[in-house]
Formats: sequence, C-alpha cells, structure tokens
Amino acid sequence: MNIIDSKKIWLSSPHMGGSEQKYVQEAFDTNWVAPLGPNVNGLESDIESYLQEGVHAAALSSGTAALHLGLQMLGVSYGDEVLCQSMTFAASANPIVYLGASPVFVDSEKDTWNMCPEQLEIAIKDRIAKGKKPKAIVAVHLYGMPYKVEEIHAIATEYEIPILEDSAESLGSSYQGIKCGTFGDIAILSFNGNKIITTSGGGALLSKKQAYKDKAIFLSTQARDNAPHYEHSEIGYNYRMSNIAAGIGRGQMEVLDDHVQKRRSNYEFYKENLEEFSGISFLDEPKGVYSNRWLSCIETSSYEMREEIRASLANENIESRPLWKPMHQQPVFAKCDTFLNGVSDDLFDRGLCLPSGSNLEKEDLVRIASIIKNVVR
Ligand SMILES: *Cc1c(COP(=O)(O)O)cnc(C)c1O
Repeated sequence: MNIIDSKKIWLSSPHMGGSEQKYVQEAFDTNWVAPLGPNVNGLESDIESYLQEGVHAAALSSGTAALHLGLQMLGVSYGDEVLCQSMTFAASANPIVYLGASPVFVDSEKDTWNMCPEQLEIAIKDRIAKGKKPKAIVAVHLYGMPYKVEEIHAIATEYEIPILEDSAESLGSSYQGIKCGTFGDIAILSFNGNKIITTSGGGALLSKKQAYKDKAIFLSTQARDNAPHYEHSEIGYNYRMSNIAAGIGRGQMEVLDDHVQKRRSNYEFYKENLEEFSGISFLDEPKGVYSNRWLSCIETSSYEMREEIRASLANENIESRPLWKPMHQQPVFAKCDTFLNGVSDDLFDRGLCLPSGSNLEKEDLVRIASIIKNVVR
C-alpha cells in the first residue's frame, strides 16, 4: 500500500463520547464562558466520586500546572532538591525547575518500569548524609501501570518526605482495588489531547486534604485576598480550568470506564497476536494491580529490531514511538544528580509504544499486528 492511500493511525488520539457538546452548549446558553462555572464544579465532583477515598479535586489548565502548584504547596522552593522518577515525560520534572529547585533522578525497576524502591532509598540516604534532605518525591504511574505503591510510600513515610503522585497517565488504574490519584500527599491528572480522557488541554490537582484543594484554587486564580478591590499578599497564577474545557471533561467522565476497557482490550489483542514471537515481550500486571493500559508497549530484543518495527509502521502511515527517553539522558538535565541501575536506559533502547487509542477499530489492530509480524517472523 502507498503511504498516501493508507489510513493514518495515531498513537493516541482524542475520542469523544457524545455528550461533551451538550455540556459545552449549556455553558454558552448560560454565558458561563469563563474560568469558573457549573461545569468546573461539576467536573470536580465527577472526579471526586469516581476516585473515592475522600479525595478533593481542583480543575486546572494542565497537568503541568497541577504539578507546579502541588510542588509549591509541598514546600519546594529555591535551592531545594526533589527526587523524581527518571523514566517519565519531561512535565514531571520541569515544574521542579520552575520553583528554582533541582531534580535528582531515580531509575526504574523491571516489574512496573516505575521508580525503583531500592534506588529511591539509596538516594534519600545519600542526600541526608550530605546534609540535604529531599523536599519531595515525584513518582509516576507510567503508561497507566501503577508504581510499587506500598514500597515507595513506606520509604517516604519512614523518611518523612511527601509524595507528589503523577497520575497523568493512569486515570482509571488501581492498586489493590484503590484508584491511582488517591495515594500521594498530592496527586495530579492530565486531560491533554493524548490522554485517556481529554478536555483538549487541562488537568487536576488531587488531595485528601481539603486545604490543598482550596489553596490550589486560590493560587490558580491569581491569589486574590478577600477584599472588594484586588488585594494580593501572595504571588498567584492563572491556572484555573475554563468552564468550556470542563464541559468537555464532564462528557468524557461518562465514557472513562469504556475507554479503559477499550485500551485494555487493545493490549490484550497485541499480546495474543504477538507474544508467540521470541523477539517481543509484554509487561504483565503484578498481582493486585490494574492498569488502564493508556499506551500498549512492547519490549523488543534489540534496538535494531525496535527501529525496524517502528520504520515499517511509519512506512504504512502508522505512528508508534520509543518509550519515554529518561530524564537523566536529556540534554537539559545533563547536570542533575542521578541514581541509576541501567533499567530505564535499556527500556528506552528496546521499548516501543504501539497505537493505543480507545477509538481504534479491530481492522486497525489487525493491520498493525500483521506489519509487526512481518518484521519479527
Ligand atoms: C501528560 C503528562 C503530564 C503533563 O500533563 P499536561 O496536562 O500535558 O500538562 C505530566 N506527567 C506525565 C507523566 C504525563 O504523561
């Protein structure tokens, strides 16, 4: 097939449910075209009842904004250090730098591809010995796979360091039956266009502490003190979610569980069709863990094979992508301290994210699998 004849298949594209436009229309009809209104409040309560555990949600303009406010509220400021999972998207680490603090990168373990508890503890001990206790830990549930919650949180509790749980990729995932986004002192969600649900762009800050939600709303709306004029005793941000975006979010919350089912069945399809090939392997869920399978990822046996698969897919107008390039390999973070074990470097060399949208058709999946089979056979 010629590239221009074949239908483009994206890695992960927006997937509307149907009632998004109804909520957006309501916003227009009632003139709530502003960064506040019934959809903003409604989306927050939809998220709160979905996640349970007494979590409070503040709807913000992006997941990155939520990370920025979250780190600030956990006390991170100029000159501090924050331990951050190295294998992640740059948005997990950038807000550390916005605050004038330095990320210290911690490698992954093989069971979940997320922060390695051993490396985390080594890092904490090292920093404490050097007289500089880290201010916070940014742990990520990558591709929807929950990190080792019990182990990571036990270490954080022992050394009394708060956790910022980056749940941007894991809405709908759970650990021992409890939803991701409820574990951290503060957690964040993202509703960017490529995530499991989208508001076109948006995010949320989550916490069991009502005070963090209230403070996040205060800071995200320019930190206005209670006065008839504009009075400010703190530096604020313009980070609140718009009522239009929140309308899209309300419609998307209605189809979230359906999206999780569809993404999980994409993964199952790839696994059933490709696991017989010795050059390809899959990351199973550890016991008690439920992944939303935001992206279906494979490990290939070599860098060369991964690149051959990626090029063959691209040649047929199909988007795939290497796993996240670890932050410790990024030029912008070259000077940061690291605690490494080789796991994320190896995953970056051999891993590939396959098309994973909840809007993929069966025939798309069949087409993708057959191209990969032709390479590995
Ligand atoms: C998408 C993402 C973010 C940032 O969310 P935005 O809404 O795009 O700002 C943060 N962390 C991870 C792991 C992400 O995948």
